[in-house]
Amino acid sequence: MSAGGQVHAIVVGGSMGGLIAGLVLRDVGCDVTVLERSRVTLEGRGAGIVLHPSTIRYLTHEGLYAPQQIGAPARKLRYLRRDGSVASEQPCSYRFISYFWLYEALLTQFGRDRYHLGHELAGFEQDADGVTVHLTEGGSRRCDLLVCADGIHSTARGLLLPQVSPSYAGYVGWRGTVSEAQLTGASFGALHEAITYHLLRRGHILAYPIPDFDGSVSPARWRRTRHPTLEPGHRLTNWVWYRNVTEGPELDDLLTDSSGVRRSVSVAPGAMQEHHVKELREVAARDLPPSLAEMLTKTAEPFVQVVFDIEVPRMAFGRVCLIGDAAFALRPHAAAGTAKAAEDAWKLAEALEACSLDVERALMRWEPGQLALGRSALGRTRDAGNRVQMEGTWRDGEPLPFGLYETGDSALLTPYSR
Ligand SMILES: Cc1cc2nc3c(=O)[nH]c(=O)nc-3n(C[C@H](O)[C@H](O)[C@H](O)COP(=O)(O)OP(=O)(O)OC[C@H]3O[C@@H](n4cnc5c(N)ncnc54)[C@H](O)[C@@H]3O)c2cc1C
Repeated sequence: MSAGGQVHAIVVGGSMGGLIAGLVLRDVGCDVTVLERSRVTLEGRGAGIVLHPSTIRYLTHEGLYAPQQIGAPARKLRYLRRDGSVASEQPCSYRFISYFWLYEALLTQFGRDRYHLGHELAGFEQDADGVTVHLTEGGSRRCDLLVCADGIHSTARGLLLPQVSPSYAGYVGWRGTVSEAQLTGASFGALHEAITYHLLRRGHILAYPIPDFDGSVSPARWRRTRHPTLEPGHRLTNWVWYRNVTEGPELDDLLTDSSGVRRSVSVAPGAMQEHHVKELREVAARDLPPSLAEMLTKTAEPFVQVVFDIEVPRMAFGRVCLIGDAAFALRPHAAAGTAKAAEDAWKLAEALEACSLDVERALMRWEPGQLALGRSALGRTRDAGNRVQMEGTWRDGEPLPFGLYETGDSALLTPYSR
Protein backbone atom coordinates (compact mmCIF):
# COMPACT_ATOMS: atom_id res chain seq x y z
CA MET A 1 0.00 0.00 0.00
CA SER A 2 1.29 3.46 -0.87
CA ALA A 3 2.10 6.03 1.74
CA GLY A 4 -1.28 7.63 1.10
CA GLY A 5 -2.96 4.34 1.99
CA GLN A 6 -4.09 3.55 -1.55
CA VAL A 7 -4.08 -0.05 -2.75
CA HIS A 8 -2.29 -0.53 -6.08
CA ALA A 9 -4.13 -3.24 -7.99
CA ILE A 10 -3.06 -4.86 -11.24
CA VAL A 11 -5.72 -6.69 -13.20
CA VAL A 12 -4.38 -9.15 -15.78
CA GLY A 13 -6.74 -9.75 -18.71
CA GLY A 14 -8.81 -6.94 -20.18
CA SER A 15 -11.94 -8.76 -21.31
CA MET A 16 -15.26 -8.81 -19.43
CA GLY A 17 -13.99 -10.01 -16.06
CA GLY A 18 -10.90 -7.81 -16.13
CA LEU A 19 -12.68 -4.64 -17.18
CA ILE A 20 -15.45 -4.98 -14.61
CA ALA A 21 -12.85 -5.75 -11.92
CA GLY A 22 -10.93 -2.65 -12.98
CA LEU A 23 -14.03 -0.49 -12.66
CA VAL A 24 -15.36 -1.75 -9.35
CA LEU A 25 -11.94 -1.85 -7.66
CA ARG A 26 -11.32 1.71 -8.75
CA ASP A 27 -14.70 2.71 -7.33
CA VAL A 28 -13.79 1.38 -3.87
CA GLY A 29 -10.60 3.40 -3.90
CA CYS A 30 -7.92 1.22 -5.48
CA ASP A 31 -5.42 2.58 -7.94
CA VAL A 32 -5.98 0.15 -10.84
CA THR A 33 -4.05 -0.79 -13.96
CA VAL A 34 -5.37 -3.36 -16.46
CA LEU A 35 -2.85 -5.36 -18.50
CA GLU A 36 -4.20 -7.10 -21.62
CA ARG A 37 -2.09 -9.46 -23.73
CA SER A 38 -3.79 -8.64 -27.03
CA ARG A 39 -2.10 -5.87 -29.01
CA VAL A 40 -5.43 -4.63 -30.36
CA THR A 41 -8.73 -3.89 -28.62
CA LEU A 42 -10.99 -6.91 -28.36
CA GLU A 43 -13.67 -5.68 -30.75
CA GLY A 44 -13.65 -8.66 -33.07
CA ARG A 45 -14.25 -11.22 -30.33
CA GLY A 46 -17.32 -13.20 -29.46
CA ALA A 47 -20.79 -12.60 -30.73
CA GLY A 48 -23.95 -12.49 -28.62
CA ILE A 49 -24.28 -12.58 -24.85
CA VAL A 50 -27.44 -13.32 -22.91
CA LEU A 51 -27.77 -10.50 -20.42
CA HIS A 52 -27.83 -11.17 -16.74
CA PRO A 53 -28.34 -8.39 -14.18
CA SER A 54 -24.73 -8.85 -12.95
CA THR A 55 -23.30 -8.49 -16.45
CA ILE A 56 -24.69 -4.99 -16.91
CA ARG A 57 -24.77 -3.95 -13.27
CA TYR A 58 -21.94 -1.46 -13.79
CA LEU A 59 -23.82 0.19 -16.64
CA THR A 60 -27.23 0.19 -15.00
CA HIS A 61 -26.57 0.83 -11.32
CA GLU A 62 -25.80 4.50 -11.75
CA GLY A 63 -28.45 5.03 -14.38
CA LEU A 64 -26.02 5.15 -17.33
CA TYR A 65 -28.26 2.82 -19.29
CA ALA A 66 -31.50 0.93 -18.77
CA PRO A 67 -31.56 -2.73 -19.87
CA GLN A 68 -34.24 -1.99 -22.42
CA GLN A 69 -31.93 0.58 -24.08
CA ILE A 70 -29.11 -1.86 -24.65
CA GLY A 71 -30.52 -5.39 -24.85
CA ALA A 72 -32.50 -6.83 -27.74
CA PRO A 73 -35.52 -8.60 -26.24
CA ALA A 74 -37.03 -12.03 -26.70
CA ARG A 75 -40.54 -12.43 -25.40
CA LYS A 76 -40.93 -16.03 -26.51
CA LEU A 77 -38.96 -19.20 -26.03
CA ARG A 78 -39.71 -21.31 -29.05
CA TYR A 79 -38.65 -24.82 -29.98
CA LEU A 80 -38.89 -25.64 -33.69
CA ARG A 81 -39.32 -29.01 -35.37
CA ARG A 82 -37.23 -30.01 -38.38
CA ASP A 83 -40.04 -28.94 -40.77
CA GLY A 84 -40.12 -25.46 -39.18
CA SER A 85 -43.37 -25.95 -37.28
CA VAL A 86 -43.51 -24.85 -33.64
CA ALA A 87 -43.04 -27.73 -31.20
CA SER A 88 -43.46 -25.53 -28.14
CA GLU A 89 -43.75 -21.87 -27.25
CA GLN A 90 -43.80 -20.06 -23.92
CA PRO A 91 -43.30 -16.49 -22.73
CA CYS A 92 -39.86 -15.34 -21.53
CA SER A 93 -38.10 -12.06 -20.78
CA TYR A 94 -34.48 -12.39 -21.82
CA ARG A 95 -32.40 -9.71 -23.42
CA PHE A 96 -29.29 -10.05 -25.54
CA ILE A 97 -26.33 -7.89 -26.34
CA SER A 98 -23.20 -8.12 -28.43
CA TYR A 99 -19.79 -8.71 -26.90
CA PHE A 100 -18.52 -5.76 -28.91
CA TRP A 101 -21.00 -3.28 -27.48
CA LEU A 102 -20.53 -4.40 -23.90
CA TYR A 103 -16.74 -4.36 -24.18
CA GLU A 104 -16.73 -0.88 -25.71
CA ALA A 105 -19.17 0.46 -23.13
CA LEU A 106 -17.09 -0.89 -20.23
CA LEU A 107 -13.82 0.28 -21.75
CA THR A 108 -15.30 3.73 -22.27
CA GLN A 109 -16.15 3.84 -18.56
CA PHE A 110 -12.71 2.63 -17.53
CA GLY A 111 -10.80 4.84 -20.00
CA ARG A 112 -7.70 3.94 -21.96
CA ASP A 113 -5.04 5.63 -19.84
CA ARG A 114 -4.67 2.71 -17.45
CA TYR A 115 -5.72 -0.02 -19.91
CA HIS A 116 -2.55 -1.32 -21.49
CA LEU A 117 -2.72 -3.51 -24.59
CA GLY A 118 0.22 -5.69 -25.56
CA HIS A 119 1.10 -6.45 -21.92
CA GLU A 120 1.30 -10.15 -21.13
CA LEU A 121 1.77 -11.63 -17.68
CA ALA A 122 4.70 -14.06 -17.69
CA GLY A 123 4.95 -14.73 -13.95
CA PHE A 124 4.86 -13.16 -10.51
CA GLU A 125 6.11 -13.59 -6.99
CA GLN A 126 4.71 -12.26 -3.77
CA ASP A 127 6.25 -11.34 -0.44
CA ALA A 128 4.86 -9.92 2.77
CA ASP A 129 4.40 -6.44 1.28
CA GLY A 130 3.17 -7.02 -2.21
CA VAL A 131 3.39 -8.76 -5.57
CA THR A 132 5.94 -8.33 -8.35
CA VAL A 133 4.45 -8.97 -11.78
CA HIS A 134 6.77 -9.96 -14.64
CA LEU A 135 5.85 -9.25 -18.23
CA THR A 136 6.69 -11.32 -21.29
CA GLU A 137 7.85 -8.16 -23.08
CA GLY A 138 10.33 -7.58 -20.24
CA GLY A 139 10.13 -5.44 -17.15
CA SER A 140 8.14 -5.85 -14.00
CA ARG A 141 5.57 -3.96 -11.95
CA ARG A 142 4.78 -3.94 -8.28
CA CYS A 143 1.29 -4.04 -6.77
CA ASP A 144 -0.58 -4.76 -3.54
CA LEU A 145 -3.27 -6.87 -5.22
CA LEU A 146 -3.04 -8.98 -8.38
CA VAL A 147 -6.38 -9.96 -9.94
CA CYS A 148 -6.00 -12.61 -12.65
CA ALA A 149 -8.82 -12.47 -15.19
CA ASP A 150 -6.78 -14.13 -17.92
CA GLY A 151 -9.34 -16.62 -19.15
CA ILE A 152 -9.57 -20.34 -19.83
CA HIS A 153 -5.85 -20.85 -20.43
CA SER A 154 -4.85 -18.59 -17.56
CA THR A 155 -1.10 -18.23 -17.14
CA ALA A 156 -1.64 -17.30 -13.51
CA ARG A 157 -3.69 -20.44 -12.80
CA GLY A 158 -0.97 -22.52 -14.47
CA LEU A 159 1.57 -21.09 -12.02
CA LEU A 160 -0.64 -21.27 -8.94
CA LEU A 161 -2.40 -24.56 -9.61
CA PRO A 162 -0.37 -26.53 -12.16
CA GLN A 163 -2.46 -29.64 -11.50
CA VAL A 164 -5.64 -27.96 -12.84
CA SER A 165 -6.20 -28.07 -16.58
CA PRO A 166 -9.21 -27.46 -18.82
CA SER A 167 -11.24 -30.57 -19.50
CA TYR A 168 -12.79 -30.84 -22.99
CA ALA A 169 -16.57 -31.29 -22.77
CA GLY A 170 -16.78 -33.34 -25.98
CA TYR A 171 -18.36 -30.65 -28.14
CA VAL A 172 -17.78 -27.26 -29.66
CA GLY A 173 -19.99 -24.25 -30.28
CA TRP A 174 -20.12 -23.13 -33.90
CA ARG A 175 -21.16 -19.48 -33.81
CA GLY A 176 -22.04 -16.67 -36.14
CA THR A 177 -24.22 -13.67 -36.83
CA VAL A 178 -26.20 -12.60 -39.85
CA SER A 179 -27.97 -9.33 -40.48
CA GLU A 180 -31.76 -9.59 -40.04
CA ALA A 181 -32.06 -7.62 -43.27
CA GLN A 182 -30.44 -10.49 -45.17
CA LEU A 183 -33.11 -12.99 -44.14
CA THR A 184 -36.22 -13.67 -46.17
CA GLY A 185 -39.46 -12.36 -44.67
CA ALA A 186 -40.46 -15.87 -43.64
CA SER A 187 -37.25 -16.54 -41.72
CA PHE A 188 -37.17 -13.09 -40.15
CA GLY A 189 -40.79 -13.59 -39.06
CA ALA A 190 -39.96 -16.97 -37.56
CA LEU A 191 -36.94 -15.75 -35.58
CA HIS A 192 -37.03 -12.07 -34.71
CA GLU A 193 -39.03 -11.95 -31.48
CA ALA A 194 -37.94 -15.22 -29.92
CA ILE A 195 -35.08 -17.19 -28.58
CA THR A 196 -35.35 -20.20 -30.86
CA TYR A 197 -34.15 -23.73 -30.14
CA HIS A 198 -33.94 -26.83 -32.26
CA LEU A 199 -32.90 -30.17 -30.80
CA LEU A 200 -30.91 -32.63 -32.88
CA ARG A 201 -30.23 -36.25 -31.99
CA ARG A 202 -27.02 -35.39 -30.12
CA GLY A 203 -26.78 -31.64 -30.30
CA HIS A 204 -28.75 -28.43 -30.47
CA ILE A 205 -28.80 -25.03 -32.08
CA LEU A 206 -30.20 -21.78 -30.72
CA ALA A 207 -30.67 -18.31 -32.16
CA TYR A 208 -31.59 -14.90 -30.79
CA PRO A 209 -31.47 -11.26 -31.91
CA ILE A 210 -28.65 -8.97 -30.80
CA PRO A 211 -28.20 -5.26 -31.43
CA ASP A 212 -26.09 -4.17 -34.34
CA PHE A 213 -23.52 -1.47 -33.65
CA ASP A 214 -25.94 1.32 -34.46
CA GLY A 215 -27.93 0.14 -37.45
CA SER A 216 -25.68 1.82 -39.97
CA VAL A 217 -23.02 -0.73 -39.00
CA SER A 218 -20.55 2.09 -38.73
CA PRO A 219 -18.32 1.71 -35.67
CA ALA A 220 -17.36 5.39 -35.98
CA ARG A 221 -20.96 6.54 -35.68
CA TRP A 222 -21.55 4.04 -32.91
CA ARG A 223 -18.75 5.61 -30.91
CA ARG A 224 -20.59 8.92 -31.12
CA THR A 225 -24.08 7.68 -30.30
CA ARG A 226 -23.09 4.97 -27.79
CA HIS A 227 -26.47 3.30 -28.15
CA PRO A 228 -27.04 0.03 -29.95
CA THR A 229 -29.84 -0.30 -32.47
CA LEU A 230 -32.66 -2.48 -31.20
CA GLU A 231 -35.16 -1.96 -33.98
CA PRO A 232 -36.30 -5.30 -35.42
CA GLY A 233 -35.05 -5.70 -38.98
CA HIS A 234 -31.90 -3.66 -38.25
CA ARG A 235 -30.21 -6.04 -35.83
CA LEU A 236 -28.20 -9.22 -36.13
CA THR A 237 -29.39 -12.75 -35.58
CA ASN A 238 -26.86 -14.54 -33.41
CA TRP A 239 -26.67 -18.33 -33.34
CA VAL A 240 -24.74 -21.09 -31.60
CA TRP A 241 -24.77 -24.68 -32.83
CA TYR A 242 -23.32 -27.18 -30.36
CA ARG A 243 -21.82 -30.15 -32.20
CA ASN A 244 -20.06 -33.17 -30.74
CA VAL A 245 -16.49 -33.59 -32.00
CA THR A 246 -14.27 -36.47 -30.95
CA GLU A 247 -11.04 -35.45 -29.23
CA GLY A 248 -7.97 -36.31 -31.31
CA PRO A 249 -7.46 -35.85 -35.06
CA GLU A 250 -11.06 -34.71 -35.70
CA LEU A 251 -10.88 -31.92 -33.12
CA ASP A 252 -7.31 -31.07 -34.10
CA ASP A 253 -8.29 -30.53 -37.72
CA LEU A 254 -11.32 -28.42 -36.80
CA LEU A 255 -9.16 -26.18 -34.62
CA THR A 256 -6.41 -25.82 -37.21
CA ASP A 257 -7.00 -22.48 -38.87
CA SER A 258 -6.58 -21.66 -42.54
CA SER A 259 -2.94 -20.67 -41.97
CA GLY A 260 -2.17 -24.07 -40.43
CA VAL A 261 -1.99 -23.05 -36.76
CA ARG A 262 -3.70 -25.37 -34.24
CA ARG A 263 -5.74 -23.10 -31.96
CA SER A 264 -6.60 -24.07 -28.39
CA VAL A 265 -9.82 -22.23 -27.50
CA SER A 266 -11.34 -20.83 -30.69
CA VAL A 267 -10.75 -20.21 -34.36
CA ALA A 268 -11.57 -16.62 -35.25
CA PRO A 269 -14.23 -15.56 -37.77
CA GLY A 270 -12.75 -15.76 -41.25
CA ALA A 271 -9.99 -18.16 -40.19
CA MET A 272 -11.82 -21.51 -40.36
CA GLN A 273 -10.65 -24.00 -42.98
CA GLU A 274 -13.08 -23.83 -45.89
CA HIS A 275 -13.95 -27.54 -45.89
CA HIS A 276 -15.34 -27.28 -42.34
CA VAL A 277 -17.55 -24.33 -43.25
CA LYS A 278 -18.76 -26.19 -46.35
CA GLU A 279 -19.64 -29.27 -44.30
CA LEU A 280 -21.47 -27.14 -41.73
CA ARG A 281 -23.58 -25.46 -44.42
CA GLU A 282 -24.40 -28.79 -46.06
CA VAL A 283 -25.54 -30.36 -42.79
CA ALA A 284 -27.51 -27.20 -41.95
CA ALA A 285 -29.38 -27.33 -45.26
CA ARG A 286 -30.14 -31.02 -44.69
CA ASP A 287 -30.94 -31.18 -40.97
CA LEU A 288 -32.17 -27.80 -39.71
CA PRO A 289 -35.59 -26.13 -39.85
CA PRO A 290 -35.74 -23.84 -42.91
CA SER A 291 -35.38 -20.53 -41.00
CA LEU A 292 -32.32 -21.74 -39.06
CA ALA A 293 -30.80 -23.30 -42.18
CA GLU A 294 -31.17 -20.03 -44.07
CA MET A 295 -29.70 -18.03 -41.19
CA LEU A 296 -26.72 -20.32 -41.02
CA THR A 297 -26.01 -20.62 -44.74
CA LYS A 298 -26.14 -16.82 -45.09
CA THR A 299 -23.62 -16.30 -42.29
CA ALA A 300 -20.42 -15.12 -43.92
CA GLU A 301 -17.83 -16.26 -41.39
CA PRO A 302 -18.95 -18.93 -38.93
CA PHE A 303 -16.38 -19.69 -36.28
CA VAL A 304 -15.76 -22.23 -33.53
CA GLN A 305 -15.29 -22.06 -29.75
CA VAL A 306 -14.38 -25.17 -27.80
CA VAL A 307 -16.43 -25.99 -24.70
CA PHE A 308 -14.31 -26.72 -21.63
CA ASP A 309 -14.92 -27.31 -17.94
CA ILE A 310 -12.53 -25.72 -15.49
CA GLU A 311 -12.78 -26.04 -11.75
CA VAL A 312 -10.29 -24.79 -9.18
CA PRO A 313 -9.96 -25.78 -5.51
CA ARG A 314 -8.86 -22.25 -4.54
CA MET A 315 -9.31 -18.73 -5.89
CA ALA A 316 -7.35 -16.67 -3.32
CA PHE A 317 -3.60 -16.95 -2.73
CA GLY A 318 -2.42 -14.27 -0.32
CA ARG A 319 -2.56 -11.09 -2.42
CA VAL A 320 -3.38 -12.84 -5.69
CA CYS A 321 -6.74 -14.11 -6.90
CA LEU A 322 -8.31 -15.81 -9.92
CA ILE A 323 -11.64 -14.59 -11.29
CA GLY A 324 -13.96 -15.41 -14.21
CA ASP A 325 -13.00 -18.17 -16.63
CA ALA A 326 -9.50 -18.31 -15.15
CA ALA A 327 -11.10 -19.91 -12.08
CA PHE A 328 -14.27 -21.67 -13.27
CA ALA A 329 -15.15 -21.94 -16.94
CA LEU A 330 -18.80 -22.86 -17.26
CA ARG A 331 -20.36 -24.61 -20.19
CA PRO A 332 -22.39 -21.95 -22.00
CA HIS A 333 -25.85 -23.49 -21.40
CA ALA A 334 -26.60 -21.25 -18.41
CA ALA A 335 -25.43 -18.24 -20.46
CA ALA A 336 -23.72 -17.08 -17.29
CA GLY A 337 -19.96 -17.01 -17.92
CA THR A 338 -19.75 -13.25 -18.22
CA ALA A 339 -22.19 -12.82 -15.36
CA LYS A 340 -20.00 -14.99 -13.12
CA ALA A 341 -16.87 -13.08 -14.08
CA ALA A 342 -18.73 -9.86 -13.21
CA GLU A 343 -20.04 -11.29 -9.95
CA ASP A 344 -16.53 -12.37 -8.89
CA ALA A 345 -15.40 -8.78 -9.46
CA TRP A 346 -18.31 -7.12 -7.65
CA LYS A 347 -18.00 -9.41 -4.64
CA LEU A 348 -14.25 -8.75 -4.51
CA ALA A 349 -14.85 -5.01 -4.38
CA GLU A 350 -17.45 -5.49 -1.63
CA ALA A 351 -15.03 -7.61 0.41
CA LEU A 352 -12.26 -5.02 0.04
CA GLU A 353 -14.57 -2.30 1.20
CA ALA A 354 -15.80 -4.39 4.14
CA CYS A 355 -12.17 -5.07 5.16
CA SER A 356 -11.09 -1.43 4.80
CA LEU A 357 -8.86 -2.38 1.82
CA ASP A 358 -6.91 -4.96 3.81
CA VAL A 359 -6.12 -7.12 0.77
CA GLU A 360 -5.30 -10.45 2.38
CA ARG A 361 -8.23 -10.33 4.78
CA ALA A 362 -10.57 -9.32 1.97
CA LEU A 363 -9.49 -12.20 -0.27
CA MET A 364 -10.05 -14.69 2.55
CA ARG A 365 -13.49 -13.24 3.14
CA TRP A 366 -14.32 -13.26 -0.61
CA GLU A 367 -13.17 -16.73 -1.60
CA PRO A 368 -15.74 -19.13 -0.04
CA GLY A 369 -18.76 -17.52 -1.67
CA GLN A 370 -17.14 -17.43 -5.11
CA LEU A 371 -15.96 -21.05 -4.86
CA ALA A 372 -19.51 -22.07 -3.96
CA LEU A 373 -20.95 -20.07 -6.85
CA GLY A 374 -18.45 -21.51 -9.35
CA ARG A 375 -19.09 -25.09 -8.21
CA SER A 376 -22.86 -24.85 -8.32
CA ALA A 377 -22.96 -23.05 -11.68
CA LEU A 378 -20.50 -25.53 -13.20
CA GLY A 379 -22.53 -28.47 -11.88
CA ARG A 380 -25.75 -27.13 -13.43
CA THR A 381 -24.18 -26.37 -16.80
CA ARG A 382 -22.39 -29.72 -16.93
CA ASP A 383 -25.66 -31.57 -16.29
CA ALA A 384 -27.50 -29.56 -18.93
CA GLY A 385 -24.70 -30.06 -21.47
CA ASN A 386 -24.49 -33.79 -20.89
CA ARG A 387 -28.24 -34.19 -21.22
CA VAL A 388 -28.61 -32.21 -24.41
CA GLN A 389 -25.38 -33.24 -26.16
CA MET A 390 -24.57 -36.74 -24.93
CA GLU A 391 -27.68 -38.39 -23.51
CA GLY A 392 -30.31 -36.88 -25.78
CA THR A 393 -32.76 -36.51 -22.90
CA TRP A 394 -33.53 -32.79 -23.36
CA ARG A 395 -37.13 -32.41 -24.55
CA ASP A 396 -38.86 -29.82 -26.71
CA GLY A 397 -40.36 -27.18 -24.44
CA GLU A 398 -38.04 -27.64 -21.44
CA PRO A 399 -37.31 -24.33 -19.71
CA LEU A 400 -33.81 -23.01 -20.40
CA PRO A 401 -31.10 -23.45 -17.77
CA PHE A 402 -30.16 -19.75 -18.03
CA GLY A 403 -29.14 -18.32 -14.70
CA LEU A 404 -26.16 -17.59 -12.46
CA TYR A 405 -27.11 -18.54 -8.90
CA GLU A 406 -30.14 -20.48 -10.06
CA THR A 407 -32.09 -21.22 -13.18
CA GLY A 408 -34.29 -18.25 -14.04
CA ASP A 409 -32.29 -15.42 -12.52
CA SER A 410 -31.19 -14.18 -15.98
CA ALA A 411 -34.66 -12.91 -16.77
CA LEU A 412 -34.65 -9.13 -16.90
CA LEU A 413 -37.90 -8.07 -15.40
CA THR A 414 -38.21 -4.82 -17.26
CA PRO A 415 -41.23 -4.39 -19.47
CA TYR A 416 -40.85 -5.53 -23.05
CA SER A 417 -40.60 -2.35 -25.05
CA ARG A 418 -39.98 -1.37 -28.58
C1 LIG B 1 -20.01 -20.80 -27.22
C2 LIG B 1 -19.99 -19.87 -26.04
C3 LIG B 1 -21.11 -19.07 -25.76
C4 LIG B 1 -21.13 -18.23 -24.64
N1 LIG B 1 -22.25 -17.47 -24.38
C5 LIG B 1 -22.31 -16.71 -23.26
C6 LIG B 1 -23.49 -15.95 -22.90
O1 LIG B 1 -24.51 -15.97 -23.61
N2 LIG B 1 -23.49 -15.24 -21.74
C7 LIG B 1 -22.40 -15.20 -20.92
O2 LIG B 1 -22.46 -14.53 -19.88
N3 LIG B 1 -21.27 -15.87 -21.23
C8 LIG B 1 -21.19 -16.64 -22.36
N4 LIG B 1 -20.05 -17.34 -22.66
C9 LIG B 1 -18.92 -17.28 -21.72
C10 LIG B 1 -18.12 -16.02 -21.79
O3 LIG B 1 -17.64 -15.80 -23.10
C11 LIG B 1 -16.92 -16.11 -20.80
O4 LIG B 1 -17.33 -16.74 -19.64
C12 LIG B 1 -16.41 -14.73 -20.45
O5 LIG B 1 -15.90 -14.09 -21.60
C13 LIG B 1 -15.30 -14.83 -19.39
O6 LIG B 1 -14.68 -13.62 -19.24
P1 LIG B 1 -13.20 -13.52 -18.64
O7 LIG B 1 -12.89 -12.06 -18.61
O8 LIG B 1 -13.11 -14.32 -17.40
O9 LIG B 1 -12.26 -14.29 -19.69
P2 LIG B 1 -11.98 -14.00 -21.23
O10 LIG B 1 -13.13 -13.32 -21.88
O11 LIG B 1 -11.50 -15.28 -21.82
O12 LIG B 1 -10.77 -12.97 -21.22
C14 LIG B 1 -9.47 -13.28 -20.81
C15 LIG B 1 -8.55 -12.16 -21.28
O13 LIG B 1 -7.26 -12.34 -20.75
C16 LIG B 1 -6.29 -12.08 -21.75
N5 LIG B 1 -5.09 -12.81 -21.37
C17 LIG B 1 -4.88 -14.14 -21.41
N6 LIG B 1 -3.67 -14.45 -20.92
C18 LIG B 1 -3.08 -13.28 -20.57
C19 LIG B 1 -1.82 -12.95 -20.00
N7 LIG B 1 -0.92 -13.89 -19.69
N8 LIG B 1 -1.54 -11.64 -19.76
C20 LIG B 1 -2.46 -10.67 -20.06
N9 LIG B 1 -3.67 -10.93 -20.61
C21 LIG B 1 -3.97 -12.23 -20.84
C22 LIG B 1 -6.94 -12.56 -23.02
O14 LIG B 1 -6.36 -11.97 -24.18
C23 LIG B 1 -8.40 -12.15 -22.81
O15 LIG B 1 -8.67 -10.85 -23.30
C24 LIG B 1 -20.00 -18.17 -23.77
C25 LIG B 1 -18.87 -18.96 -24.05
C26 LIG B 1 -18.86 -19.80 -25.16
C27 LIG B 1 -17.65 -20.68 -25.42
